[in-house]
Amino acid sequence: MHIFCVDDFEIFKVNGGGNKKEEVFDKIRQIKGNKLKQKEIEVETLDFESQVLNVIGVDLVNGCNLACKYCYLSASSIGIKKLSENKFLDILNFLHEEKNHKVVFVFSSGGENTLNFDLMKKIPFLCRENGFLDCSFDLITNGTIFTNEMIDFFKSNNFTLHISLDGDKKTNDKNRVYPNGRGSYDDVYDNLCLLKENGLAFSCNVLLQFDSDNVIEVFQFFEENKIHFNYDFPVDSLDGRFIPDTSGLDQWLMQFETIMDFYKQRIENNCSVYADKLIKDIKRIHFGVTNGFACNASIDSIHIGISGSIYPCSYNSGSEELCIGTIYSGLDYDKIVKSKLYAKQVDCYDSCRECWIKYLCSGGCFGLKWVSGGDTDKPTSYNCMIKKSYWEAVVKLYIRLSRYIKENSLFDYNS
Ligand code: SF4
Ligand code: SF4
Repeated sequence: MHIFCVDDFEIFKVNGGGNKKEEVFDKIRQIKGNKLKQKEIEVETLDFESQVLNVIGVDLVNGCNLACKYCYLSASSIGIKKLSENKFLDILNFLHEEKNHKVVFVFSSGGENTLNFDLMKKIPFLCRENGFLDCSFDLITNGTIFTNEMIDFFKSNNFTLHISLDGDKKTNDKNRVYPNGRGSYDDVYDNLCLLKENGLAFSCNVLLQFDSDNVIEVFQFFEENKIHFNYDFPVDSLDGRFIPDTSGLDQWLMQFETIMDFYKQRIENNCSVYADKLIKDIKRIHFGVTNGFACNASIDSIHIGISGSIYPCSYNSGSEELCIGTIYSGLDYDKIVKSKLYAKQVDCYDSCRECWIKYLCSGGCFGLKWVSGGDTDKPTSYNCMIKKSYWEAVVKLYIRLSRYIKENSLFDYNS
């Protein structure tokens, strides 16, 4: 039996034999006495206005060439609208106080941002010309419409590329389809090969589907194809058109065990692992990397929609209720605080205080909480269920691998 310390992720082995129950209680008393930290972080005293904005999401487009069945924006049904060069200059004007430090521009939402490549290709120049000398660019794209010109541009401007792909053809094409129903896999896969041929680094973003009884195949696909990837779980769409079917969630979550068995073998056999999120999460346990805040949205990170409206993050883009200002009127700090449109320190949420993964989950996405329950303080039950099952599987995997990690000095350097 093992005891997991919520506060710093240290894991204690409790030996069997004798009065095991008493031994467990003793150990818990000892851990509590020695280790329990009283964290009193009053996020409400945060001075929002003095925060520096570091991460700026920008919608270059509203609309999409795909019509994914779970799209949280229903992007294919809203027509294609593009951000103009003048509006982008207005955005830079709004951000003028941030010129002297690093700014990360993230093109992640609103639809498929490469549909406005005419503007995208001017952005690095526009930033430099307007005094933003330390910028980097992240692009999350459906990867269906790359051209050689785009590839050269991404390469010469050091774009960080994240391509949405849900796995093999059968899995991906269940949901990631064009408006006529044709799957997007073939086009995306060809473009991934093009990126590889051109030596461009990228990773894939995978949405694991609750209706799949063979999620392991998704993981196997990325490992076999040597494609780095991160994974996430379906969420309610902003307009309520898509609500994940969680009816068989209990059964679905049991698949984590199979996935972790697969990775235990890969790691012990010294095979490369392309599941970047899993490796990052194992390292979090190993190094005790706690996190009390789910994100920095509204604090040092914002998202700007095509009209110049500002939202906490890309997930909220287009929502009037979650709008926190405009590039012309500035950020509405009163609304951010009154409507609780920021992530509080996890101990400030009544529902999270006693949760064993509170410093791993950090309280979850406040935008999602708002969309599914109208209250950014209340976690969504299915989301908590997924997170707890996932982290339980990761912690168990770590315990099973801990001797191997130690004996092989696996994380002695950042590999
Ligand atoms: S690619 Fe993204 S924005 Fe486009 S339909 Fe699919 S989920 Fe929505
Ligand atoms: S799993 Fe749920 S209860 Fe636990 S920290 Fe996350 S949101 Fe809070």
